[in-house]
Amino acid sequence: MLAKLFEIHGSFCAGHPLEVIVTTFTLTACMLNLETGNNAAREGRLSGTSSHCWNGRCNGDDQNAVDVIVMTIIRCLAVLFSYHQFRNLQKLGSKYILGIAGLFTVFSSVVFTTSVVNFGRSDMADLKNALFFFLLLIDLNKAGVLAQLALSSRSQEEVRANIARGMSLLGPSITLDTLVEILLIGIGSLSGVKRLEVLCSFACLGVVVNYIVFMTFYPACLSLILEFHSRWPFKHGDGDDTVEGTTSPINSHIIINNHNKSKTPEDFKEHLMNWLSVSADNIVILILLLALALKFIFIEDKGDIAKQLRFKEKEEDEEIASHEETSMETMHASSLDMSIRQRFAPDLPTVRTSVFPLSGMGDNWMVVGGDTQVEVEDKEVQTDGRVLITDGTPEEITKDEKEPRSVEECLEIYKSELGANALTDKEVIQLVKNRHIPAYQLEKAVGDMERGVGIRRLLITESAKFTDELADLPYKNYDYTKVLGSCCENVIGYVPVPVGIAGPLLVDGELIRIPMATTEGCLVASTNRGSRALMKCGVTSRVVADGMTRGPVVRFPNIVRASEAMAWMQETTNFNEMKRCFDETSRFARLTRIHVRIAGRHLFIRFVAKTGDAMGMNMLSKGTEKSLQCVQGSFTDMEILSLSGNFCTDKKPAAVNWIEGRGKSVVCEAIVPADVVEAVLKTSVHAIVDVNINKNLVGSAVAGSVGGFNAHAANVVTAIYIATGQDPAQNVGSSNCMTLMEPWGVDGKDLYISCTMPSIEIGTIGGGTGLPAQSACLSMLGVQGAHDSDPGENSSKLARIVCATVLAGELSLMAALTEGHLVKSHLRHNRCEHKKKF
Ligand code: NAP
Repeated sequence: MLAKLFEIHGSFCAGHPLEVIVTTFTLTACMLNLETGNNAAREGRLSGTSSHCWNGRCNGDDQNAVDVIVMTIIRCLAVLFSYHQFRNLQKLGSKYILGIAGLFTVFSSVVFTTSVVNFGRSDMADLKNALFFFLLLIDLNKAGVLAQLALSSRSQEEVRANIARGMSLLGPSITLDTLVEILLIGIGSLSGVKRLEVLCSFACLGVVVNYIVFMTFYPACLSLILEFHSRWPFKHGDGDDTVEGTTSPINSHIIINNHNKSKTPEDFKEHLMNWLSVSADNIVILILLLALALKFIFIEDKGDIAKQLRFKEKEEDEEIASHEETSMETMHASSLDMSIRQRFAPDLPTVRTSVFPLSGMGDNWMVVGGDTQVEVEDKEVQTDGRVLITDGTPEEITKDEKEPRSVEECLEIYKSELGANALTDKEVIQLVKNRHIPAYQLEKAVGDMERGVGIRRLLITESAKFTDELADLPYKNYDYTKVLGSCCENVIGYVPVPVGIAGPLLVDGELIRIPMATTEGCLVASTNRGSRALMKCGVTSRVVADGMTRGPVVRFPNIVRASEAMAWMQETTNFNEMKRCFDETSRFARLTRIHVRIAGRHLFIRFVAKTGDAMGMNMLSKGTEKSLQCVQGSFTDMEILSLSGNFCTDKKPAAVNWIEGRGKSVVCEAIVPADVVEAVLKTSVHAIVDVNINKNLVGSAVAGSVGGFNAHAANVVTAIYIATGQDPAQNVGSSNCMTLMEPWGVDGKDLYISCTMPSIEIGTIGGGTGLPAQSACLSMLGVQGAHDSDPGENSSKLARIVCATVLAGELSLMAALTEGHLVKSHLRHNRCEHKKKF
């Protein structure tokens, strides 16, 4: 109701700007001529028969040093505060907003001073002080908000609609603020402390003037200025002048009170006494002023406004759902309509969309806002109601968006400096369908990752005739900047995977908690039990080899040339030349050896290189390519068939990785005391060793396994890989593992266990390791990113952790199998039907 009133009011001011301005001026002029009963006093003062005094101390020469200090502080605060406010507005990047805010300040100050002189029983000395006080109370933030909103419009009608909309949203909060401020400050004016009373009266007057100007003159002026600019080309100089105009009053205020300049040495004693007479009211005033300044500087209400706007928007979206769409044609850009936005476009602030998510606003409202994030910098995102508050189903798009403009018109806007920001999602989709924007480049085209992803969802939802299939696939609040161009294409969201924590696991004397991303119930619990069993003895681990591989296939005219090339590469000098070429491509990748195999006239060359903290596949590819080019210098008849000839071998089961190793080759061991085997693992050493031999060694041999001499290494490897942003497909080779167990000690009552994993392909930099959640998991392990001083140390540690955790997992599962607990525990932790009990 209240909002509606303010909306009508705002609409009126914006619709009749001249009338409102003239009325305001007239009232001000009338006020100047009003007989307020002060004239006598003023005349008396002017004639010298009376002097204006505060708290017994008269102004002018009689003012004491404390007054001077207090007033200097007030003035400094006022200047600083004004500066702060203008800086904030300046950050929005628009000289127009600065200019409009300056105009607002100047006009408010004029009205205020006029009021003080006429109603405040004050003379020029009071006025000087009061003006600074007023500057402390003025709130340019809200003025900036309204200006920004108006400037976001695309037509004069839109300006009016947006001003009205802004007033409806800002009006109630400003009114409330004004009332509260008047009440609070009013208390001071009844305090009985003379000086405080005077200043509080000024403050009250200032608040009232501020309010009146904001509610009348300001929206009218805003509307008028924008209308003028839409008709006449705007010269840059004009804008600059306006800004200067706004700053000059500030500069003019940087004049420190110099009342005391006229003091004579005779007055020194008296002044000294005054310096010492810091009265209670001085202190109260000072505290009050400081509190006011702090309130404005630190407790700005942007957040509240943003919240209000969001809340409002939701309400309105619901409202709109019940209304038929009405034509937006008149609102949408005609050449004249576009002029305002175009003219202001280069200067339009980065729309702090938190302040203007004013979309889905009904028939008269324009889409001007952006997304709802509060701190979105350097983005100007035009969206609609759907993008702001929903997950984007076709129903929503037809419900909330207006009819799209023609393809030609949209294309013109898209190609203009306004770009996709000035298009609705529906219009962008239209351009995609007409092949003006490639669907895979949506993020780039709209200049906003999340919006691009959202539009792609709409697109596929439409084309696949999905209804709400995507509703549960989240896509918001994700840092897509880390994804695009490095991790995933055609993004439509992300799949959250639960992450459990196992441990602490004692690895080489360090207690480590391991994040595991999995949907297999029991896995984390089982690994946790294994870690508990290893708590007493700990795990010892070593990285015994380090070398990522890439194995291209090259072809020669015949076996003679192929064998010559093979011999050539195996000569140290030639290898060094190949290495030089390879090493040139990276600061960290270092070729250590090559392994050449011949097959007819083909050569398979397995390049092996250290890659620092990166898993290194891309680095290897780059280096290998360059190195082969060097070889081609000597063997011009060498044909590079494929940079990967499957001799690498990446993401496929292969004996070469198991035998030769790939990435980090790690081995770890532990000696579990007999009592722990019995108490924690609930089995005996004899039984578990027996099962291990027959299952993991004999059983795997019977199966013809390569590298699969373990119980479930892949489980642990994959869970850690997903949690830490590894390439999960590399679990194929990375899970190669042989688990060995034997009785230990003189009487053979303890359990010796080791895991040998020759091909852990892992890194702490590159690929998915840089994504926020994955990066957090790496941080938990203390191995995030590149190692400060020793490249490769972080990735080696992570490989050791993987191997040690595999050992813990092997221990626990083998114990469960030995005692026949597997089915029981899986049924307890890994079955949907079990959930019914909860
Ligand atoms: P990458 O991100 O391509 O390369 C690592 C980058 O990190 C390099 O630019 C490297 O610098 C830099 N770096 C900074 N500090 C480093 C340090 N301490 N140690 C190592 N590098 C450091 O990562 P990658 O491991 O080579 O490749 C991983 C990606 O390749 C994953 O996304 C994976 O899915 C994908 N992959 C690719 C293939 C393929 O065939 N290309 C195969 C499988 C997987 P420099 O520029 O100086 O080297």
